[in-house]
Amino acid sequence: MSGLVLIGAQWGDEGKGKITNYLAERADMVVRFQGGANAGHTVAVGDRTVVFHLLPSGISRPRATCVIGPGVVLDPLGLVAEIDTVSAQGIAVGRNLLVDVGAHLVLPYHKAVEAAEEAARGAGAIGTTHRGIGPAYADRCTREGIRAGELARFDRFRELFEQNAARRNELLVKFHGAPPVDVAAELARLEAAAARIAPHLADTPPLVRSALSEGKKVLFEGAQGSLLDVAFGTYPFVTSSHTTAAGVAAGAGVPPSAAGDVVGVAKAYTTRVGAGPFPTEAEGPAAELIRERGAERGATTGRPRRCGWFDAVAVRHSAELSGMGRIVLTKLDVLDAFERIPVCVAYEIDGRRVERFPRSTDDVARARPIFEDAPGWKRSTRDARATRDLPAAALEYVRRIERLCGVPVAAVSVGAAAHAIVEFQSTLP
Ligand code: GDP
Repeated sequence: MSGLVLIGAQWGDEGKGKITNYLAERADMVVRFQGGANAGHTVAVGDRTVVFHLLPSGISRPRATCVIGPGVVLDPLGLVAEIDTVSAQGIAVGRNLLVDVGAHLVLPYHKAVEAAEEAARGAGAIGTTHRGIGPAYADRCTREGIRAGELARFDRFRELFEQNAARRNELLVKFHGAPPVDVAAELARLEAAAARIAPHLADTPPLVRSALSEGKKVLFEGAQGSLLDVAFGTYPFVTSSHTTAAGVAAGAGVPPSAAGDVVGVAKAYTTRVGAGPFPTEAEGPAAELIRERGAERGATTGRPRRCGWFDAVAVRHSAELSGMGRIVLTKLDVLDAFERIPVCVAYEIDGRRVERFPRSTDDVARARPIFEDAPGWKRSTRDARATRDLPAAALEYVRRIERLCGVPVAAVSVGAAAHAIVEFQSTLP
């Protein structure tokens, strides 16, 4: 099987960018299949740190063709800005980037509407990234979306944009009392962006399918995390796309049977950004220490992330949903400082022990974690590159997670640096 699916096993920010970049060294093609510029994949490239939002993390590897697939929602202005930013950092973006003609566009009115709606929700806000992702996916479902292919026919694009913007402006002004989108100014910016994006447009699914059937290595790069999946996450505190492996087929245009093995990326602890239940959330000095050691601030928004302990109930749920064959456990080094490390093995809900992640978000919110304490190792793991370099207690911690989740851990990441990884099995393709 030449495909490999890499997805987040928690609430996002698991370090997927670093792991994709690591595996992209061996990949011929890297494909984004869902989400948009709400992703923030931070990757160390040489001695620089680069943050990718919409560009696949493999873009720093000149050998790999990078595909923004039809399941992605694409902000044309953001994409051009990101190409300029990474180009200034020495990463060439040319024919190695393909943008699918069917990817839906995120347009300025989507962002304006999202900001107005989040403000109107007040204390009940979802905590979205204000990137217009939700409204763009909503337009796709209600058949009002505009797809990337239209950027190559700008007169047609202009017509569709003017129609949609007029309706959204009415909503913004009359309902929300918010300023309207400046249609002429935005069209001028979009026309310039369209000219830059047009050379990258392609019908990508046949190319991805051919690469798979020719035995090329194709990496499907997930964004956000499984517990933010629109169908199986903690709804409504979720993202607007399918972040589980199921998203690959619909989002890249490949048969489910061809997508390949699934690798889940999980942090050695847990974080969450924005609102929504988080059973293992820590407070006080422990949370602060994780946040500080793990630099837990959003790459897209700069928001401090909520921090807590590893939740085996949640990761088991993600693993079952996507058929994860392996886990890559990241940020193990962040736990180097702890004497004892709580691991959540089950929940208690209304006095009952619950092993399975509840379908009801209210139940998740009421769940009290049942922790078992693992012994810490109190030694730096940052220089570990082989199993023998890891302290015995750190290895035991990894084994415990494997047992609790029922999935082997193929590798652990012990630092932000590109090669700060210990591979346990040589089975990462
Ligand atoms: P993603 O969205 O899943 O790619 O995750 P982010 O990029 O938002 O967050 C991961 C952050 O952790 C980035 O700043 C990475 O450089 C950093 N990182 C990744 N792996 C490790 C690790 O093993 N240890 C440490 N300390 N940092 C890591």
